[in-house]
Amino acid sequence: MVNKWLSTIRASLYPATCVLCGARGEAGRDLCAGCCEDLPRARHCCRCCSRPVPGSGGELLCAACLRDPPDFERTRALYGYAPPVDHMIHQLKYAGRLPMARLLGLQLAALAAELPAAERIVAVPLHASRLRERGFNQAIELARPVARALAVPLDTRSCYRTRATTAQAALSRAAPRVNLQGAFCVRRDLSAQHVVIVDDVMTTGSTAGALARALKAAGAAEVSVLVVARAAI
Ligand SMILES: [Zn+2]
Ligand SMILES: [Zn+2]
Repeated sequence: MVNKWLSTIRASLYPATCVLCGARGEAGRDLCAGCCEDLPRARHCCRCCSRPVPGSGGELLCAACLRDPPDFERTRALYGYAPPVDHMIHQLKYAGRLPMARLLGLQLAALAAELPAAERIVAVPLHASRLRERGFNQAIELARPVARALAVPLDTRSCYRTRATTAQAALSRAAPRVNLQGAFCVRRDLSAQHVVIVDDVMTTGSTAGALARALKAAGAAEVSVLVVARAAI
């Protein structure tokens, strides 16, 4: 009863507005129907890494996965890394707009329902120095609604970065794998578990690949990756 009153008061003080166009929205919705419709949904994807593959209905593999299969079994992406999704992610990471994480995390949760049952969710860890600088890990904030919706524990303790790696965006396509060699460590036995990795953006796939390798080395039987946006490289 008190909660209901509080949320009524909150809704009248802070009416829901669309985070993209500012239009008055419905209560509890941070995005209006029009803006939601215009988002660049990920379509025609590689079934393993979610890279765009012309003509694929999600059953084909891209050339890169055929040549060099990643250590994860599948990737599901909400959107292509294109406007306005790139801006939304930038707002979350660099302007600290945490409501973006709730909005995108709830959408990720709906996508996560299509995955096989999982035992554990991990967010791609930030190195301690980057975490200090930013104050929060956007991947953890995105993973919270996913963990709640699936009723699966969000594990923020078992995986960590052993060193700060060079920003992926600044590297060429070939370099990230070398740069990320041994970048993650897992301090828990994950025998026979299906682990879901959550991250904001997948660019080359090498970060998720390196973390999946570390999870498999710790015993994980299966690794899925959930990302908000997939870059088309
Ligand atoms: Zn809008
Ligand atoms: Zn692929």
